[in-house]
Amino acid sequence: MKILDILILGSGPAALCLASELAKQNLNIMGISTKSPKDKWENTYGIWASELEELGLESLLSHRWSNTVSFFGNGINEKGNNSTEHRYDYGLINQEAFQNELLKKCKGIEWLNETAKQITEDKNFSEVICFSGLKLKARLVIDASGHKSNFIKRPARDDVAQQAAYGIVGKFSSPPVNKDQFVLMDFRPDHLNKEEKLSSPSFLYAMDLGNDTFFVEETSLASYPALSQDRLKKRLFSRLENKGIQIKEIYHEENCLFPMNLPLPFKKQFVLGFGGAASMVHPASGYMIGSLLRRAPLLAEKLAIYLKEPDQSSIELASKGWEVLWPNELTQRHKLYQYGLQRLMRFDESKLRSFFSSFFKLSTKEWVGFLTNTLPLPKLIYVMSKMFINSPLKIKLGMLNIN
Ligand SMILES: Cc1cc2nc3c(=O)[nH]c(=O)nc-3n(C[C@H](O)[C@H](O)[C@H](O)COP(=O)(O)OP(=O)(O)OC[C@H]3O[C@@H](n4cnc5c(N)ncnc54)[C@H](O)[C@@H]3O)c2cc1C
Repeated sequence: MKILDILILGSGPAALCLASELAKQNLNIMGISTKSPKDKWENTYGIWASELEELGLESLLSHRWSNTVSFFGNGINEKGNNSTEHRYDYGLINQEAFQNELLKKCKGIEWLNETAKQITEDKNFSEVICFSGLKLKARLVIDASGHKSNFIKRPARDDVAQQAAYGIVGKFSSPPVNKDQFVLMDFRPDHLNKEEKLSSPSFLYAMDLGNDTFFVEETSLASYPALSQDRLKKRLFSRLENKGIQIKEIYHEENCLFPMNLPLPFKKQFVLGFGGAASMVHPASGYMIGSLLRRAPLLAEKLAIYLKEPDQSSIELASKGWEVLWPNELTQRHKLYQYGLQRLMRFDESKLRSFFSSFFKLSTKEWVGFLTNTLPLPKLIYVMSKMFINSPLKIKLGMLNIN
């Protein structure tokens, strides 16, 4: 049986982002996935427009909003309402165009419709055994099978926080958000009863999609245990009801659940990961698509160099890959984000509103850099310290875990 250079598991955004870069490297690559790479991705992927612009990919947005706001239930602003204006463009990715663009770049890579069951390590290669019985050998296996991967080894943790959301795309009796508006976070708690106010907070993420169609999603940033879909659905409906809005038609329902603070994988293991499997979700926001696009090119280039040495074992190749994916700089930043998230999860809705209200008083460059994980470590430390100093006392105490 032929030994491939690389075998990729999965055909989601992570697998295709990396495969599209590896395809430039003249390697012998194959993919296997439970789903065909042409099967439409189901999630709705949002992103700050600048993240795509910097890569020349802004044409992949199906929608783009300049009117981007949040509501933290605080005072009236200069426009006479109580919104926080972000003054920064946000967009919705056209999944089909994004998927097709990546697939076009995956020239020469064949995907088999198979599901990996087990991966074993031999002297100079790894073997993937599929549920069908098919066995495939590769010098390096890259697991991009998502956050539920069984193959990537990481420290055990039984209290992993989950981001959960329930959303609908539909038509409503009156607009749930203003025309041409994108709402990043509406934390106003007017519709919540006393008991709900004391439990894990959630916010509305919403957008005007045009043609009287809106996407509204009740989102819990991170919670352990996760907020149930049922609870989020009830909260969304009571939020709408409180504004006197009825749902007229539902075109699409989104059920979202993924881990926010999966521990980083061990760097010494014979399988390399990418995407959800490699803990690449931003622990403070839950976003990942921008990171996939930014981090895939370097990893692909480096792997091609490492593979030129014929006697490198799978564990040597994978370990070098992990070093590229999670260098010290990114690992330290990840730790800071995780620290912040851990503190935020202890905040009740009033503290959380106060926290975000202070957060968005940072300069645009600072808060965007924080949310997209593009600030170098010293700058990130500076921004987090600035945020701490500018916060009200109750937030300072909360960040120090003194309640
Ligand atoms: C509902 C939802 C909305 C999200 N919205 C955003 C957003 O707006 N912006 C953002 O940046 N991030 C968002 N995320 C977070 C993150 O970007 C997504 O979870 C993203 O889909 C993860 O990509 P992935 O390729 O790592 O995994 P997945 O998308 O989960 O893809 C995994 C792939 O692996 C295949 N597979 C699984 N097991 C095996 C196996 N054993 N063998 C072979 N193949 C296998 C699957 O069929 C699939 O093709 C969202 C997540 C969810 C769940």
